[in-house]
Amino acid sequence: GTIADTLTRSVENVTGTLSETFIEPTLRLGVTGLSRAGKTVFITSLVANLMDRARMPQLVAESESRILSAFLQPQPDDTLPRFDYETHLAALTARAPHWPDSTRAVSELRLSLKIRPSGLLSGLQGPRTLHLDIVDYPGEWLLDLSLLDKSYADWSRDMLDRLALRPGGPETRTLLESEDSTQDLDETRARLLSDAYTAALHTARNAGFSDCSPGRFLLPGELEGSPVLTFAPLPPVDSAPRRSLYREFERRFDSYKARVVKPFFRDHFSRIDRQIVLVDALGAIHAGPRAMEDLRRTLAEILTAFRPGTNAFLTNLFMGKRVEKILFAATKADHLHHLQHGRLTAIMEALTREARDRARFAGAETQAMSLAALRATTEQVIQHQGSDLPCVRGTLLETGKQAAFYPGALPEDPSHLLGTAREGAENWLDQDYSVMNFAPAPLVLKPGEGPPHIRLDRAAQFLIGDKL
Ligand code: GDP
Repeated sequence: GTIADTLTRSVENVTGTLSETFIEPTLRLGVTGLSRAGKTVFITSLVANLMDRARMPQLVAESESRILSAFLQPQPDDTLPRFDYETHLAALTARAPHWPDSTRAVSELRLSLKIRPSGLLSGLQGPRTLHLDIVDYPGEWLLDLSLLDKSYADWSRDMLDRLALRPGGPETRTLLESEDSTQDLDETRARLLSDAYTAALHTARNAGFSDCSPGRFLLPGELEGSPVLTFAPLPPVDSAPRRSLYREFERRFDSYKARVVKPFFRDHFSRIDRQIVLVDALGAIHAGPRAMEDLRRTLAEILTAFRPGTNAFLTNLFMGKRVEKILFAATKADHLHHLQHGRLTAIMEALTREARDRARFAGAETQAMSLAALRATTEQVIQHQGSDLPCVRGTLLETGKQAAFYPGALPEDPSHLLGTAREGAENWLDQDYSVMNFAPAPLVLKPGEGPPHIRLDRAAQFLIGDKL
């Protein structure tokens, strides 16, 4: 209670902060992307390649031999699931390697790096430690941000419109529109409608559509089957009685926003310093022009989360702090011969231009890139009807057989892929791409070597290089 006590306490506080921020700085790296974008493989390979760095020449601190060691440590957040690095790495490095289980929810891993300082101070200071806290979370959850500004009626209208344009959507729309939602809620009926809507989201996702809200309907985690995930869009009605289906779905929608969406942004998202957004651009290109247009819109929407000024809720959360760097990376670039990587990067740039302009406006440094976190192929040029086809060779997941493929050529001008979705617009990557389901290649790693990749070291340099 005395002034002296108070002073001691504030000194302790300051010291606590000091040891965190100055003596042992931490950097929170968010890894996101829609499901199957490649988050799990990316984190696993990044960590393995930061521990064994022979394949990381583009990481400047490594090329200067200043990274003395890298090791896993207990993470700071006790209640968050730990990213299961060991199991995922074991899957990729097994004698018969297989892809690890994908991200289903948020998880975290702390990698600590011991670094020798560079430049003038290098002679004066001993090695310092940087804690890199990697936070993995589904991109679907970021999309939910846009729900915060929407009423149930607005959201319903939006989603019913979108359903009309998607594979499997029209039937579900008819089902939802023919429901008399002024009747009393019946839980069995509610579940049926919600299941039908969830199934339509899955169908749309499998057809390459990105915007499938609410995000937890696709990745429910421990909320599966709870009332907060048991609703669906319904055509707005003028006056719905209490206890009606409409009123209850509206209430559950609001509860979803307050109890699911907001806590995620408050507890996890608002603490991120650096972010990588992984995008399966090749998958969307292959799925066709509509899926591309949908992806472009979805990325722009995801990116509003990185521009807190546009949203009062986020502005309060961030309180002046911001994400400093954002990398947009097209994954699985090992499906293409490197001659086409430049085109893939150009497509990625075009896809995220709007989003990147906004982020830049909010003060974050951004970049677009194409990479493969785990290279599953080798390159091969094949003669075909008198010309050279730049192919990639890999082991097919289904048959276990080796084969070389030419997935088709990406357009030189990315605008051929973007713009308004047109019926009958040209399709790209429609040749062998759909059969190119490669298994991870068996690895023979020399001491000091991480798994093979494409440009993972450049990605790491952009994301954390300045802190090493
Ligand atoms: P997540 O849902 O974002 O966690 O996605 P995953 O990391 O589980 O990746 C989904 C799938 O994409 C994997 O099972 C692989 O089939 C494929 N994949 C991911 N990264 C790569 C890569 O670097 N190269 C290749 N060839 N395939 C990849």
